[in-house]
Amino acid sequence: MLFDPYPKNNLNDLYDRRAEIERLQNGVKYPLTVIQGLRRTGKSSLVKSVLNDMIYIDIRKYSGKGYISYRDLIEEFNNAINRDLKDRLRDVFKNISGINILGNSISLSWKKNRVRLIDVLNAIDDYYNNNNKNIIITIDEIQELIKLKGYNFLNDIAYSFDNFKSIKFVLTGSQIGALHNYLKMDDYNSPLYGRAYTLIDLKPFNREQSMDFLKKGFNEFNIDFNDAENVYNTLGGIPGWLAYYGFRYVNNSKDPMNETIKNARNTIIMEFCNFIANREMAFKRYYLILNKCIERSSWSEIKNYIENNEGNIIPNSVLNKMLNNLIDYSFIKKYDEKYELIDNMMRYAFK
Ligand code: ADP
Ligand code: MG
Repeated sequence: MLFDPYPKNNLNDLYDRRAEIERLQNGVKYPLTVIQGLRRTGKSSLVKSVLNDMIYIDIRKYSGKGYISYRDLIEEFNNAINRDLKDRLRDVFKNISGINILGNSISLSWKKNRVRLIDVLNAIDDYYNNNNKNIIITIDEIQELIKLKGYNFLNDIAYSFDNFKSIKFVLTGSQIGALHNYLKMDDYNSPLYGRAYTLIDLKPFNREQSMDFLKKGFNEFNIDFNDAENVYNTLGGIPGWLAYYGFRYVNNSKDPMNETIKNARNTIIMEFCNFIANREMAFKRYYLILNKCIERSSWSEIKNYIENNEGNIIPNSVLNKMLNNLIDYSFIKKYDEKYELIDNMMRYAFK
């Protein structure tokens, strides 16, 4: 069902994305694929619908946390491996120090006899290599790992890239600037520097796709829907909002548009709070910038707006840093010397 409000895990439920599907299928023949795209454009859906033999790790759940520990990372791997390699654990993890096999699951120890993640990966690679198969490791919303303290997971990806034959990494990120700041593919000092990778840029649907998506989704319920243009004009082309609207509609909501807006508003406010979590002092200012960006605004219009509100001067460097952060975390974009919200629905959260 196209209007299912959860990430899709089946190509039949995925609307279009033919070019991206093909690019991903090709990409995973090589060590590293990166999928960038705004929140709710369908990154998780793409990965889960297209890729089969895969260990899937979602870091999004840490978005509200201030930091991530090595233990958290090990536990994420532990859970994902138990789920995704369930029927072959004993074959993969024979005789590896720090890994206990108990019944149908493994337990990676992170205390005494601490397991090295790279040894875990090595064991997985060996197994698949011996079986002449590839295994994909997807780290969804990897930019959150910027908060991982005392351990650089990029070293493991780089090592794997250089030494393993069967492991292929797929990394996704919604906060596109932050994603690239984390991966630092072009930074000479970064572990991943100079490695070739396939980049997939998942865009929102355009007008035509959005309307066709709605039409096809409603067709599955034998509903002849005539309001697609209006819906697109309000919601924009983010698949997640369109799917949510369709879902409410076919579930007999009294006012699906209003409910979609309310849901979007709450979700975006929560995401803004996560973004603010380590920047509480600047809450009001960030809010003012976003509020001003409901209308496309120039740098000086934003600066005046904040200063009028605060009755204080805001230093240029401070404003620039804040604007860059909002760009990196995909709240606003800069276009033709003006700043604007990146998603139509944000206007309801920041008004
Ligand atoms: P992301 O991982 O980029 O945040 P998700 O994969 O979670 O996005 O998708 C967000 C919502 O949009 C989900 O309800 C999903 O079912 C829907 N969706 C996204 N892309 C598509 C698509 N191509 N076809 C159908 N539904 C989609
Ligand atoms: Mg996702």
